Amino acid sequence: MSKTSEWRAERNVAARARLDRALPAVFPGAVLRHALARPLIPPTPRLAIESYWRAHLLRADRLARALALRSGHPEGWTWRLGSIQDAGFKDSGLAATFRLPPSPFREPAHARGKGHCCLCGQPVYRFGWHRDLWGAGVPNKNARWHAACVTAWKLWVAPSDQVKLLKARQRHRCAASGKRLLRTAEVDHRVPLYRVWREHRNDPWPTLLGFWGTPNLQVVNRVVHVEKCGLEAGERAERRRAARPAAQLPDGADPEWRDPTARDEIAAD
Ligand SMILES: [Zn+2]
Repeated sequence: MSKTSEWRAERNVAARARLDRALPAVFPGAVLRHALARPLIPPTPRLAIESYWRAHLLRADRLARALALRSGHPEGWTWRLGSIQDAGFKDSGLAATFRLPPSPFREPAHARGKGHCCLCGQPVYRFGWHRDLWGAGVPNKNARWHAACVTAWKLWVAPSDQVKLLKARQRHRCAASGKRLLRTAEVDHRVPLYRVWREHRNDPWPTLLGFWGTPNLQVVNRVVHVEKCGLEAGERAERRRAARPAAQLPDGADPEWRDPTARDEIAAD
């Protein structure tokens, strides 16, 4: 046995013992099986759950969106952006850019209180699990996130980090050209996020999340991506030009008549 495998074997015996001691009588079976099959066994139930979701990213994405659907569109909520220059921006729960998924339950007016996930709004149970496997009847008051929602959020805000997984999901074919994906292939939002803000802003909130999740993520070869980004940038520049308040507007004309949406988009950039 090599030194490394000896070290690993010893470490795993200790980790397994620690995990066994901390493990409650009820624990998700799939998570435990996953944990015990790791080259390095996670030594706590919490780490076992995190490891499980990291390995099941697409499932975490689907689950987070399904939980959001259960919460539904918060009454009276609309997607707004904040500005870091605003007083109270930090506590507003608003994002400064449309590139981040809207999260209404982080806004004080819609927060669901302790024990509820600030992403999907549903109750959080032991170890950040989303179901009350323990029959506690009440959520875990100290928890603010589901373990699955943390994983989904990471994918939504930095999908490029998961290019390998997303490539495999497409069987290594470019989503635009159908050609084999090259090593330099890039992750792209099928519907670009600026258009989500412009055209889908009033969609129900759970539907909006799909624009950050796998339904709107694709991997394309770099050459295709550059071309798509170029077309999008051109279209945005055109709208900006049209939205710019022009000096030659007739007296009394409201410059906003041109395109208030494009104006917001400029503010949001
Ligand atoms: Zn959640």
